[in-house]
Amino acid sequence: MTTATAPTNFTELGLISPLLTRLTEMEYQQPTPIQAQAIPSVLAGRDLIAGANTGSGKTAAFALPMLQNLYTENQTSTKSKGNFVSGLILVPTRELAMQVADSIKSYAAHLNGDIKTVAVFGGVSVNTQMLALRGGTDILVATPGRLLDLISSNAIKLDMVKTLVLDEADRMLSLGFTEELSALMALMPKQKQILLFSATFPEQVKALTEELLNDPLEIQLQSADASTLVQRVFNVNQGEKTALLAHLIKKHEWRQVLIFVNSKHSCNHLAEKLAKRGVTSQVFHGDKGQSARIRTLEGFKAGQIHVLIATDIAARGIDIDKLPVVINFDLPRSPSDYMHRIGRSGRAGEVGLALSLIDHVDAHHFSIIEKKNKIRLEREEEAGFEVDETVEAYVPMAPPEGSGKKKRNKAPVNADIWLRNSDSE
Ligand code: AMP
Repeated sequence: MTTATAPTNFTELGLISPLLTRLTEMEYQQPTPIQAQAIPSVLAGRDLIAGANTGSGKTAAFALPMLQNLYTENQTSTKSKGNFVSGLILVPTRELAMQVADSIKSYAAHLNGDIKTVAVFGGVSVNTQMLALRGGTDILVATPGRLLDLISSNAIKLDMVKTLVLDEADRMLSLGFTEELSALMALMPKQKQILLFSATFPEQVKALTEELLNDPLEIQLQSADASTLVQRVFNVNQGEKTALLAHLIKKHEWRQVLIFVNSKHSCNHLAEKLAKRGVTSQVFHGDKGQSARIRTLEGFKAGQIHVLIATDIAARGIDIDKLPVVINFDLPRSPSDYMHRIGRSGRAGEVGLALSLIDHVDAHHFSIIEKKNKIRLEREEEAGFEVDETVEAYVPMAPPEGSGKKKRNKAPVNADIWLRNSDSE
């Protein structure tokens, strides 16, 4: 863990003037703490494990030094011809791939078109992406599945990767991506710079990173105190969550609220139930076509859609400017997913609210989420939705002694990482 005093302006970080000019245009007045600490060591070629709150400027923390390193290298050496990539950024969702690539292109605005950045992800035609990859690319932002498809059709090769970034690293190193990630790693050179960025690093992931990285700089900047996000939790009777939700949306006149549920089916179901209570919403999940996903997210970001009901595919990295409210209608399965979900709000120093609605079945699960995330929230109740005290909190049964097989409780919570293929990329 680093303790050095962080520089307070971008010039001190050693960035070149085309990047500094762009940052001034974008009104980035000073580096965020993660940028101040990460940029010099990434410029110097060092491996990195960076943990920082969501919305704390992680993209620029890896994108700026990567751009600079590739740009200065391109000035001094002739580019190799062929379908190669130098800087590879792996992300878990399509939307994040687009968002990261857009940010990089924006940061590179004054690099004379010298750095080519391409994003590839599933759900859209592969042909356009193959065309974009002709002649290789300096930076590639990719979801693992589509990247493997493109490699198998010789559209791109990983032999020349110099820097690998795993954004949302805990997710990329989790069971759901193990096979794809190992297949990709096997195609890259052994010698390369690796940068891991995530808001959470569960213990299991930390162990994995030791094998992957070479003397990494570790930066841990998560801090509940530094957060501008207020977390609240409302107790509610079972069967009254929808009514409470509709009531809260109307009462507070929330104009932009992101609601998380645990399945595609629940998205549609909740949307129907809210509609009956006079609340119009849209849904966002893995069964929607990619163009519909893009349209919905754009509409939500632009404030045309006020209420968006989503599965965890919206929980990672998505940057919605000034999103005021995130609601856990269903609790997330894992404690780290809780942090990622609520991190959609309160980004970049903006004030935000994360609200969890819990009935007696959720109570035990929520206590574990609190414990793992080292938080403790006061239980609140909304007037008119007082909780029936005669209903006892649901405590999951332990598996019978010696039963050999572990019994799955309704809401399994003991592992930080879940194999979740139900709605992943
Ligand atoms: P990220 O954590 O990379 O998703 O960034 C969250 C938001 O903060 C994005 O909208 C960025 O444009 C913005 N941002 C990142 N770095 C800075 C900075 N140094 N100053 C102001 N805004 C920033």
